[in-house]
Amino acid sequence: MGNIFVFFEVYSIVRQFMMFDQELAQLDQKHLLRRLSTVESSVGPRIKMNGRSLLLMCSNDYLGLASHPELRRAAARAMEQYGFGSGASRLISGTSPLHQELERRLALFKNTDAALLFNSGYAANTGIIPAIAGEGDVVLSDSLNHASIIDGCRLSKAAINVYRHKDLDHLESLLAKSGHARRKLIVTDGVFSMDGDIAPLPGLVQLAEKYHALLMVDDAHATGVIGNSGKGTAEYFGLAGRVPIQMGTLGKALGSFGAYVAGERALIDYLVNTARSFIFSTALPPAVCAASLAALDIVEKEPERRNRLWDNRNRFVKGLEALGVGVGGSESPIIPIMIGDSGKAFKAGQELLSRGIYATAIRPPTVPEGTARIRMTVMATHSEADINETLEAFNGLKQEGFI
Ligand SMILES: *Cc1c(COP(=O)(O)O)cnc(C)c1O
Repeated sequence: MGNIFVFFEVYSIVRQFMMFDQELAQLDQKHLLRRLSTVESSVGPRIKMNGRSLLLMCSNDYLGLASHPELRRAAARAMEQYGFGSGASRLISGTSPLHQELERRLALFKNTDAALLFNSGYAANTGIIPAIAGEGDVVLSDSLNHASIIDGCRLSKAAINVYRHKDLDHLESLLAKSGHARRKLIVTDGVFSMDGDIAPLPGLVQLAEKYHALLMVDDAHATGVIGNSGKGTAEYFGLAGRVPIQMGTLGKALGSFGAYVAGERALIDYLVNTARSFIFSTALPPAVCAASLAALDIVEKEPERRNRLWDNRNRFVKGLEALGVGVGGSESPIIPIMIGDSGKAFKAGQELLSRGIYATAIRPPTVPEGTARIRMTVMATHSEADINETLEAFNGLKQEGFI
């Protein structure tokens, strides 16, 4: 009797693993299987993969800070002083003076009352949205928002209304139908992560004010990148003070790790009490905060880095256009090369790799079905020769009919 039970239990576990295999095989067949690639060097314009030196054209380390000596030194010093781990969540015993200093600096940087750290942008969005919008509320979300916003919406008990990408008329028609809602939250990427276009913030602010909705902007790809002093989307549009919830990340242009939300004191205190990803997660290591502080110093003191980033971006886009390669709606250092079919996009990525350039194919579900692409990003630390080498590779891809 017992033996039979054991047999069925083992059989049922084995069968479940076989199902994983089958599902992976199906993904592979659709050219949607993902595999990890190991970067054996530090992050920079050139990296080492499989012992080979490659030109890196898909990192979010826009300003070249991820490997910067000042960040390394700041982290090492903080580690000496505070050790490595934080030991607990912020509300238990995990708050160090460096968390507080970084929050103070971020609030200054964003010109807001206060700021709150989160352990990642993913944690921020999945914490903030459900904390702000619950039962009886409405969230209005751009159709191309980042997955972490989508997941934040899924965790929220609010009604979720997705508006067509950057379509203010569609958004307004949804807002007009949300009169019953206790609270309305409009949420958008500042710079869209897979297309590199910029949210129509002036229109969003107007609609938010007209319909008494809260507006939340995710500046993951805007922080350090857009606006005269790299403060993000609100600065870029001259709308400082009119975006009540400004979220951003520290792991992209700031070369560090973690995320923040900046806003009014009451918002921040409310999130300390309600954002579950803040409350129930171990605090960032103090050394990570020290690296973020060093990165903010550099962003403020070296605007020439941002200028180089934009020069590189413009040089690359001009070169692509001269080759007859479109860049979609890109308005930022994120430059999507549209391919469409997932298999073809994957092969184009492999082809680039064979030419010494690393830029991954982005396929569904990261992007909508039929819009697979190579998502290129340029960095301040790329040289003119790096950009030219990449353009040469694209010339090759064009000859071979990939684009
Ligand atoms: C990368 C990204 C995030 C997630 O940030 P992490 O710190 O990497 O978790 C959130 N939103 C957008 C728009 C992003 O591009």
